[in-house]
Amino acid sequence: MLIYGTKKIELKTIDLPVACTSCGHAQQRLQIYRKFVSLYFIPLIPLQKKSVVNCPSCFKELKGKIFFEGLATKELDPVQAKFHFKSILKATKTPLYMYVLPFLLVALIAGVFAYGYHESQQSKVMLEEYLHSPVGNVITVIKSQEGAYPYHISYIAEINDQNAVV
Ligand SMILES: [Zn+2]
Repeated sequence: MLIYGTKKIELKTIDLPVACTSCGHAQQRLQIYRKFVSLYFIPLIPLQKKSVVNCPSCFKELKGKIFFEGLATKELDPVQAKFHFKSILKATKTPLYMYVLPFLLVALIAGVFAYGYHESQQSKVMLEEYLHSPVGNVITVIKSQEGAYPYHISYIAEINDQNAVV
């Protein structure tokens, strides 16, 4: 069974000296996180960065952007607040180690394809070499394109002039 979903990885938490409009708590916190698509609870594919402002007391939540747009304090007018918020969001980097698993996944998939390509190229070279100078006493295994059997196996006893004894 494939277990997949999304997982929030927190990048940064900043305490804001702004009172909660719901319960009056003196501080609110800005949480910046990145969502990942997870497979078996392991975060694998990074999605966009997001932010939320919540109250540590009553847990009332607002999207970070909406919160900053609506913020009109004496020190920061909404335009400044928005700009300030954007710079915080931009400055919050996702640690490189969080990209190790996605990188390994991509490398693994690329490796499997490269190996498959290498194998098929190698068997083509072997076939060409054989067709160039066929010899007897050889067992051939040919993957069939259709029919009930996946492989055709034949024994070539000997090659004389243009004929093969199969
Ligand atoms: Zn509150």
